Amino acid sequence: MTAVVRTPLPALTAHPARLVILDRDGVINHDSDAYIKSVAEWVPIPGSLEAIVRLSQAGFRVVIATNQSGVARGLLSLHTLHEIHATLQQMIATMGGQIAGIFYCPHGPQTGCRCRKPLPGLFEQIQAHFAVNLHGVAAVGDALRDLQCAAAMHCQPILVRTGKGQQTLARLGGAPSCTRLVFNPCPDEPSTTRRSARVFDDLAAVADELLHAALVSGVP
Ligand SMILES: [Mg+2]
Ligand SMILES: [Zn+2]
Repeated sequence: MTAVVRTPLPALTAHPARLVILDRDGVINHDSDAYIKSVAEWVPIPGSLEAIVRLSQAGFRVVIATNQSGVARGLLSLHTLHEIHATLQQMIATMGGQIAGIFYCPHGPQTGCRCRKPLPGLFEQIQAHFAVNLHGVAAVGDALRDLQCAAAMHCQPILVRTGKGQQTLARLGGAPSCTRLVFNPCPDEPSTTRRSARVFDDLAAVADELLHAALVSGVP
C-alpha cells in the first residue's frame, strides 16, 4: 500500500508591515469585458467591502493596484476613474474602514509603460510610497498578470476565483477546486522556474486567512 503524502500548504503569512495589495476589477468589484466605465457600472462583489474593512480595522494597510487601460482607450476619463475611486473609498469609510492608497495604470498595452501589470511599476510605486519592502506581502488578483507582478516583487501571489479567476485557473491547468496553482512568473521566458500561488474563493476568504495568520503570528 502506498501512503499518499500530501505536502501541507504553506499558510499565508501576515507581513510585519501589515500591507496587502489588491487588484480591483474581479477582486473587489465585478469585472466586465466592456470595462468599468462609470460609478454605476462599479458593483462590489458580495463580501469584498466587508473584507477590506475587517483587514483595515485589524491594522492592515489595504492598497489597490489596478490596470485601467479603459482610460487610454478613451472609454472613461481620468475624472470618472477618480470618481469611481472616491465612491469606493467613501463606501469603505462609511463602513468604518480605510483604503490606504489606490495606484493605477491608465495606459494601454502599446504605451510601453512600466506600470501596466504584469510589469512591476505599480508595485514599485507602492514600495516607494510606503517605504516598505514588498517581499512577502500578500498580493491578490484574478488574472495571471496579477500573479506575475506579485512574483516579480517577491510578494505572496494569491488568486481568487471571482472575476476572471476561474478562467485563469482553467487556462493554467488548475482544477476548479484546487487550492494551489503553479504558474510561469515571467511572461517572456517560458523556461523560468515556476512559482505557485494560493487559490481562494474570494477576497473574504483571503481576509479570513490573513487575519488568522496575523493573530497566530502576533504580527504587531
Ligand atoms: Mg482583475
Ligand atoms: Zn502604465
